Amino acid sequence: MSETTGRETLGFQTEVRQLLQLMIHSLYSNKEIFLRELVSNASDAADKLRFEAIELPELIKEDPDLRIRVSFNGEAGTLSVSDNGIGMTREELVANLGTIARSGTAEFLQQMTGDEKKDAKLIGQFGVGFYSAFIVADRVEVLTRKAGAGDNEAVRWESDGQGEFTVENAERGSRGTTVTLHLKDEEKEFLQEFRLESLIRKYSDHIAFPVLLSNEGEKGDEEKTVNSATALWTRPRTDISDDEYQEFYKHLSHDFADPLAWSHNKVEGKREYTSLLYVPGTAPYDLWNREVPKGLKLYVQRVFIMDDAEQFLPLYLRFIKGVIDSADLPLNVSRELLQKNADMDAMRGALTRRVIDMLNKLSSGDAEKYATFWQEFGQTIKEGIIEDKQNAERLMKLLRFATTASDLSKQDQSLGDYVSRMTENQEKIYYIVGETYETVKSSPHLEQLREKGLEVLLLYDRIDPWMVDHLGEFEGKAFQDVGRGQLALPDSDDIITQDAINDEHKALLKKMKRILKDRVEAVNVSQRLVDSPACVVTSEQDLAPQLRRMLEASGQALPESKPILEINVKHPLVTRLSSESDDERFGQLAKIVLDHALLAEGTQLENPADYVRRMNQYLLDIEADGG
Ligand code: ADP
Repeated sequence: MSETTGRETLGFQTEVRQLLQLMIHSLYSNKEIFLRELVSNASDAADKLRFEAIELPELIKEDPDLRIRVSFNGEAGTLSVSDNGIGMTREELVANLGTIARSGTAEFLQQMTGDEKKDAKLIGQFGVGFYSAFIVADRVEVLTRKAGAGDNEAVRWESDGQGEFTVENAERGSRGTTVTLHLKDEEKEFLQEFRLESLIRKYSDHIAFPVLLSNEGEKGDEEKTVNSATALWTRPRTDISDDEYQEFYKHLSHDFADPLAWSHNKVEGKREYTSLLYVPGTAPYDLWNREVPKGLKLYVQRVFIMDDAEQFLPLYLRFIKGVIDSADLPLNVSRELLQKNADMDAMRGALTRRVIDMLNKLSSGDAEKYATFWQEFGQTIKEGIIEDKQNAERLMKLLRFATTASDLSKQDQSLGDYVSRMTENQEKIYYIVGETYETVKSSPHLEQLREKGLEVLLLYDRIDPWMVDHLGEFEGKAFQDVGRGQLALPDSDDIITQDAINDEHKALLKKMKRILKDRVEAVNVSQRLVDSPACVVTSEQDLAPQLRRMLEASGQALPESKPILEINVKHPLVTRLSSESDDERFGQLAKIVLDHALLAEGTQLENPADYVRRMNQYLLDIEADGG
């Protein structure tokens, strides 16, 4: 570092380099969004200053009118976005514009495909931000001075977006930040007043601070305020167009795709607040990281207080973006105070209901959008079934399933759809849980149900084994796992005990149990099977096999449990077994029948090599016997 100028050249973090390249490549057809991003950052900086000034009014005193200036210079080929907001120290500047601190960034960037459209969508999940300046500029300068710092404590940052940036000491007469873009030759269209004015109106009209536009190249050109400069959520709903709502969402989320739905409400009475909540169109890349703070932007009487205020919605609704503007919370409210605030529970309850209502409305009003929602966020709703007893009934209406009524793996059937198709005597909602769509769809457990025309919900999301225990009832109908316990189907005669069913085949069952006793709890005659010789089922009180595998994989020690083997006495392989007089061969075949039942259910055999050896031997034996 040079001692007089403090000049140093630093390399971008690898992730930043990758992001820069991707952004330039995949967002080119949306290049104008850079302006929204820079104005958005400037507005955030003004918000942050106003917040800090609650405690330290001297930070803002000499220049209390917060504003954003966009200016351009045709001759110099430059465009600047300038604010009198919070500004940055040297350390902040290097950290903010040289690294990405969010966890999981590297993994996220690895998913990029090189396909412009797909990558653009992915970058939308990540948030666009400052680096989008390099889509249109071949050099970017940032001159910033932190609020409260002296004239000569400013810093200049500069980069061509290739791999490095420089920072050096600089002077700046007042607090705030100016970002200057040296536009690429082919991007000079952004140096026209008319073009900039319409872009600011389009993208930044709702910014709560005035955005002024001026032509630096022209002497005597007057600054004019281009936007309406009122916070969008403070305006009446009827005055706000869909476009405005959408643009505001993009400002909030740094997403560049439209949201699926929004809900804007003003609550009056005991507690007064305005909420504007959005359902994004794509899940953020770190949705499944429940540790990363996510939440609403909190304002108190229009003063920005904090980002990611997670206290206003339950964790399972962490994908919702939006703003809360409270009239009665104190301006000095902190996360800790929010946690203790007696009104919070009621507010969270009301906002949760708002979100669920908004989703219910979306599901009945726009099937296509709801399908997108379900694909992106369906599993969080399943978390809600587990975590939010109070709203269980409402949340259940939001669930969507693949079922045996369709050949497609689409999760598009609601419980209401299912119930409306239930057969006359059917009392239960049948479901099966497994690891993939393929395994559950072709599970032997479904055979009888298929034959009887009974529909079954197919569950194969990671969270499903947990969720099913919390389903309770839907419209008075209980849920029944078809892979568990004894299965009594409607219109089969009265429920007969398993003992009575086993009675006729006692000898065979006993012989099999003797051979398989280390691996199964019991051998029973099945009531579920039609085409398959056998299947394994879980006993009523045992953990579901998927759940067991997951818990074991995470290192939990679980009490040993063995499945029940059910055999189909009408199947030729089982008939052969019962007429087999050679003990050796009976043993071989009994083991193969069990192995196949386990394989069909998706269980890995404990000793696959042993299975293959037995199978080969058995095939050779029957061949030697002449078939
Ligand atoms: P994001 O805004 O999503 O955090 P950016 O890459 O746009 O990401 O910006 C990174 C960080 O740089 C911001 O979080 C903010 O701390 C800082 N920053 C950017 N622009 C400004 C500005 N005009 N004034 C103060 N800080 C800024």
